[in-house]
Amino acid sequence: MVTTQKYVYFFGNSRTDGGADMKNLLGGKGANLAEMCRLGIAVPPGFTISTEACTRFTESGRDALTELIRAEVQQGVAFAEKEMGKQFGNAADPLLLSVRSGARASMPGMMDTILNLGLNDEAVLGLATKSNNERFAWDSYRRFIQMYGDVVMGLKPLSKEEHDPFEIIIDALKEKKGVRLDTDLDAQDLKELVHRFKALIRARLGCDFPNDPWEQLWGAIWAVFESWNNDRAQVYRELNDIPQSWGTAVNVQAMVFGNLGDHSATGVAFSRDAGTGEDLFNGEFLVNAQGEDVVAGIRTPQQVSLIGSRRWAELALVSEADRASHFPSLEELMPDIYAQLLHFETTLENHFKDMQDIEFTIQEGKLWMLQTRNGKRTGAAMVRIAMEMLKQGMIDEKAALQRVAPDRLDELLHPIFDPKALAAAQPIARGLPASPGAATGQIVFFADEAENWVKNGKAVILVRQETSPEDLRGMSVAKGILTARGGMTSHAAVVARGMGKCCVSGAGAVHVDMKARSMRIGSTDYAEGDWISLNGSTGEVYLGKIATKDAELSGDFGALMALTDKYKRLDIRANADSPEDAKVARGFGAAGIGLCRTEHMFFEGDRILAVREMILADNEAGRRQALTKLLPIQRGDFEGLFREMHGLPVIIRLLDPPLHEFLPHDDANQRLMANELRVPLAKIKLRVEELHEFNPMMGHRGCRLGISYPEITEMQTRAVLEAALNVRAEGSHVKAEIMVPLVGTVREYNAQAEVIRRTAAAVFAERGESIDYLLGTMIETPRGALIADSIATQAEFFSFGSNDLTQMTLGFSRDDAGKFLPDYIKRSIYEHDPFQTIDQKGVGLLVQMAVQKGRSARPDLEIGVCGEHGGDPASVAFFHRAGLDYVSCSPYRVPIARLSAAQAAIND
Ligand code: PEP
Ligand code: MG
Repeated sequence: MVTTQKYVYFFGNSRTDGGADMKNLLGGKGANLAEMCRLGIAVPPGFTISTEACTRFTESGRDALTELIRAEVQQGVAFAEKEMGKQFGNAADPLLLSVRSGARASMPGMMDTILNLGLNDEAVLGLATKSNNERFAWDSYRRFIQMYGDVVMGLKPLSKEEHDPFEIIIDALKEKKGVRLDTDLDAQDLKELVHRFKALIRARLGCDFPNDPWEQLWGAIWAVFESWNNDRAQVYRELNDIPQSWGTAVNVQAMVFGNLGDHSATGVAFSRDAGTGEDLFNGEFLVNAQGEDVVAGIRTPQQVSLIGSRRWAELALVSEADRASHFPSLEELMPDIYAQLLHFETTLENHFKDMQDIEFTIQEGKLWMLQTRNGKRTGAAMVRIAMEMLKQGMIDEKAALQRVAPDRLDELLHPIFDPKALAAAQPIARGLPASPGAATGQIVFFADEAENWVKNGKAVILVRQETSPEDLRGMSVAKGILTARGGMTSHAAVVARGMGKCCVSGAGAVHVDMKARSMRIGSTDYAEGDWISLNGSTGEVYLGKIATKDAELSGDFGALMALTDKYKRLDIRANADSPEDAKVARGFGAAGIGLCRTEHMFFEGDRILAVREMILADNEAGRRQALTKLLPIQRGDFEGLFREMHGLPVIIRLLDPPLHEFLPHDDANQRLMANELRVPLAKIKLRVEELHEFNPMMGHRGCRLGISYPEITEMQTRAVLEAALNVRAEGSHVKAEIMVPLVGTVREYNAQAEVIRRTAAAVFAERGESIDYLLGTMIETPRGALIADSIATQAEFFSFGSNDLTQMTLGFSRDDAGKFLPDYIKRSIYEHDPFQTIDQKGVGLLVQMAVQKGRSARPDLEIGVCGEHGGDPASVAFFHRAGLDYVSCSPYRVPIARLSAAQAAIND
């Protein structure tokens, strides 16, 4: 087939085809390499094979793709050869290549990288002569075989307890030689390693390591495309909502070397602190090393800047003298290179107007930039960087609001260690503060076991020597991660920050024995299952559980939240059932209570006894008697809510769940109840049986209860209005709204409205005073949505109960869908869990229709939503577009909803 489609894009000094705006086609890495070339930054030349080639590869396989791109790849290699003045496959002075993946969204550690490609038994000799460094040549070769053997040829550990088989060979040789570091191995040793590695490959795989550079190159290209579909890439995509269809690009680039001696180095750096957001250039590097060494966590990296180095030394308990002599910063060690790096970093941050995460290599005194991308960061860093860039005039208010992913605010809202509990805690080790937060859990040493423990309801801390992409699932379920090795840019640190998970890395005092399933610190052993706590903000590791305390809005976070108010149109209310919840919600900026589920109040203290007494009563008189006991308690509850909300609207919903939920279903508790209420056990059992329903969610609940037992509605109405009058008498404003649940017909609504109005009239007559209140309904049955115009002739407000509306529209039980929904999502039958993110096409259509119909009947109808979707960013954007007045969500999601609402308004 003749095709003119272009799959390969060059980048280099003399020619650059791509640019930063071509991420979809070239992947993030490829697009930014091209952009750096355009900015005049020194980048090793090469070419990018586009993501479209990956799609062709997935569709038609290796051979077809190879035919399609062969000529372009050959031209790409020729381009790199020309730029570098060397030839690929030349034995005397070989051009060596790196082959890396690069998807549209960065996927750290997900995809595989091959370095030093093009080396073989002849070229290694040429490289040794040309570089005048035999050790370097053989070290490059053994690294290449190791990476290629693992990634392309698939030589992996045989079991999870086994270390990397290549590393086992290295360790054995080091032990034989009596040396500790890889750098202590000489050229002869490395030659020996090459020999042993090749023998290992032959023995395990039954084939030879390929000597032909072109065979090596094609193998590597295919491996990158194949790695798009490997398990860990799929897990990462699942966790981060990256579509399978995007594919990855392949970047083939001339090698530069950080391991050519003491004037060479390699490192990674961030233009601002990825953990805290502080505007401080920071990073790590290793002298005489290749890139993988920095992230692999095998040697202790040094800090790029002097200030960073001093801070590191303080945390690592290294004295200034020791630091300066053994771990000097790049700023001290190579001041000219440092100045250049700082210049590149500033250029890049100013150009991309975002915090940059860069990789660099210094080859014999020349600085090369290998990568730049917008850096991953914690939620706290996201907020601080956005607000500081706003203050620095780099971005405007709208951009600052768009810079923070609403869901990531979660990390700032969750509890931190209670300072008192922390003061009493016993520190047992200290590592690097790799990802902030507080975590308490039981020690587990294997990622797959962490998953099982968590499935069984346990909180775990995953403890590893270092983590690898295979550990991703375990890391995502753990409360926190502790590693013995690795710096601030180790796999554990980078991934944990991306997940917003607490992580302490490189705690050197921790010795992990995976076989014994224990870790030793000093002379103490800690076993699997022991409790420890981590402070990811200080790097401290503590023994046992530590109590936590709530976070608060302040500083940049507070300023960001204040900014949301300037742009958002939606109000954000909270679902709160107690004054404590209401207080938290107010603290986070809630503009009212969108739902008080009164049934939650029924479970507290002795009140459940009165509720049960009411349920057991044989007639209305008996029920009224029990309700008389409940009235003052409910009134007190509502007074608390009204006081806390200082005149902001408070929606109180009438009793909703089926009554059987208030009775015990096991024999022991039924006996207890019989004793407490002094009624025969048989009576309780009979009542439980009578109340049994085959489908309780569609049974005797919602307004159906109030229609059968209007005395319950009467008591609740009385409690709301008496509380409102009482709190007003204290001098506070009160805005009460009474809400009828699960309405499907106008007559249902009217039946309840009649009871409420009648009771209100009675209360006001008794008190000789009245108070305004709104009377409205939930729209949570499909029929209710369909006839919203008729309902709106009666109801003064609507609140969508999107949980029930989803349940009934989809026909998915809220309580049982968990069994099959994961399969549905995996197979893209539904893109998201419809109980988390509103199903816009189905349920959303009902919402839009009900809004339109409702307002056609009553133009000033107040409309909100109080299902779980009220705190979900994508759903909030939908409700904004649908024209709602507010969303209501759990108190801890209020800031998330505020930001989502502002972003929705900006995107309008
Ligand atoms: C709903 O159905 O969305 C709702 C808020 O009510 P509940 O979750 O209490 O049924
Ligand atoms: Mg409901």
